[in-house]
Amino acid sequence: MAEGRDYSEAVVIGTGYGAAATALRLGAAGVPTLMLEMGQLWDTASSDGTIFPSMLNPDKRSMWFKTRTEAPLATFLWLDVINKDITPYAGVLDRMHFGDMSVFVGRGVGGGSLVNGAMAVTPKRSYFEEILPEVNAAEMYDVYFPRANANLGKNDIDPAWFETCDCYQYARVSRKAAQNAGLTTTFVPSVYDFTYMKQEETNQVPRSALASEVIYGNNHGKRSLDKTYLAAALGTGMVTIKTLHEVREITRQPDGTYLLTVRQTDAEGNVLATKQIGAKYLFLGAGSIGSTSLLVRARETGKLPLLGSEVGQGWGTNGNVMLGRANHIWDPTGSLQSGMPAMGIDAWNDPAYPVFAEIAPLPAGIETWASLYLAITKNPERGYFAYDSATDSVTLHWDLAQGQRSIDAAKNLFDKINAANVTVYRSDLFSDTRTFENRFTYHPLGGLVLGKATDLYGRVNGYPNLYVTDGSLIPGSTGVNPFVTITALAERNIEHIIATDIR
Ligand SMILES: Cc1cc2nc3c(=O)[nH]c(=O)nc-3n(C[C@H](O)[C@H](O)[C@H](O)COP(=O)(O)OP(=O)(O)OC[C@H]3O[C@@H](n4cnc5c(N)ncnc54)[C@H](O)[C@@H]3O)c2cc1C
Repeated sequence: MAEGRDYSEAVVIGTGYGAAATALRLGAAGVPTLMLEMGQLWDTASSDGTIFPSMLNPDKRSMWFKTRTEAPLATFLWLDVINKDITPYAGVLDRMHFGDMSVFVGRGVGGGSLVNGAMAVTPKRSYFEEILPEVNAAEMYDVYFPRANANLGKNDIDPAWFETCDCYQYARVSRKAAQNAGLTTTFVPSVYDFTYMKQEETNQVPRSALASEVIYGNNHGKRSLDKTYLAAALGTGMVTIKTLHEVREITRQPDGTYLLTVRQTDAEGNVLATKQIGAKYLFLGAGSIGSTSLLVRARETGKLPLLGSEVGQGWGTNGNVMLGRANHIWDPTGSLQSGMPAMGIDAWNDPAYPVFAEIAPLPAGIETWASLYLAITKNPERGYFAYDSATDSVTLHWDLAQGQRSIDAAKNLFDKINAANVTVYRSDLFSDTRTFENRFTYHPLGGLVLGKATDLYGRVNGYPNLYVTDGSLIPGSTGVNPFVTITALAERNIEHIIATDIR
């Protein structure tokens, strides 16, 4: 096994939203920056001519070292027709299991941007002020949210096209059902290129969103981070990315620099090398689970003993609940469905049960008469991370009862929709007969909360030059899909850190 030593003035762990924004600004400021990503660079087509497999025909590229795919919908008509056996491989989507909760995350250069639904939603200002009261909201809404949206490539759907295209019939049907119940719907901005999508519908270009591509990657149309922030970061000439490099351990040297133990593998999971990589400035951008696990383990194994008790606290699911409704036979949702949601039901002002429900596709390629939703609810319950010395691993602690509030909120909203439309829930989608699925989240947030585990700019308490820059800063909830918030907060923090700590 080869051993190597390396050093970079700045090291960023991960290549997701927070990491990418941080690396771009470091590179632009002339700081030599090394990004370490445990997943692959997804830029090369396989023998079938595609980079990513479709959801309807998954293969080893779909998932991170699994023997079978683990899609969010387990069954259809209670039939096990969705998931497929696959060969373990460094695929693009991971589902991590922690007792009653499992967490979906993207793996590869671009992190979650490779697998997500591209919804680019800025949170309501009043709710942002509620969750992060010590952050200057005026600055965020005047400067950093616009900056994040511009750099992410946010765009809006043409409303006239939405009304007539085949691929959003499912959204129009759900909008009608919501309106019948007196509820408000709203368009959701996206980082999927809507101009490209229009051309997909008329077969002018290869289909991606319209070819059931989402959670296992998009071959076209998606402005994932490798095409936006990371391309710009590499363009500074100061940033390099090493793929299939997993950071395993962080220690601090007597001279105050950080030393990382990094495992390099191949795409089959064989270990090629274990490296020591040094950094003066270390940025944790490995996502809520990744970054929090690294610091909890470092504290508990005595590698970074000054880390405080707030490290590993304040984790939440963003209140995620998935559910389906059965429509009447005269309300087909369409066999052609864009994999990228473009509309949500906004009931966040409900005094008892705030909900923002994205109208999700069910891109099965056939008519299902089903409407699917991912409800984002306001749930004050928080989980925590703990180290298990027997397995030398960090585990997330969250029990099913903590998710009940989210189900209550979703039920409050969708009972109204069902009552107004004389429709029912689908009970065939989540392997048994449950109608609400709250045992997974797409939106892990918290663990290293801003102003608690870190100062108000993400500096880790007790450790100079160690920073958190991803979803773990956000205290468990944003009220909307989170990547715009994560990116904007990273933009704000890194601007301050470069000005005060680095240059
Ligand atoms: C299926 C799905 C759909 C979603 N849809 C939306 C949506 O439409 N809109 C929205 O706003 N949000 C959506 N999300 C959530 C969004 O993608 C995440 O909130 C976001 O990606 C989190 O950003 P991050 O910077 O915290 O880290 P991530 O994007 O999770 O990036 C972390 C990166 O670090 C790497 N990493 C982890 N540990 C290590 C380590 N030890 N060493 C090296 N590398 C490591 C990971 O491989 C990953 O690439 C969705 C998520 C999923 C899974």
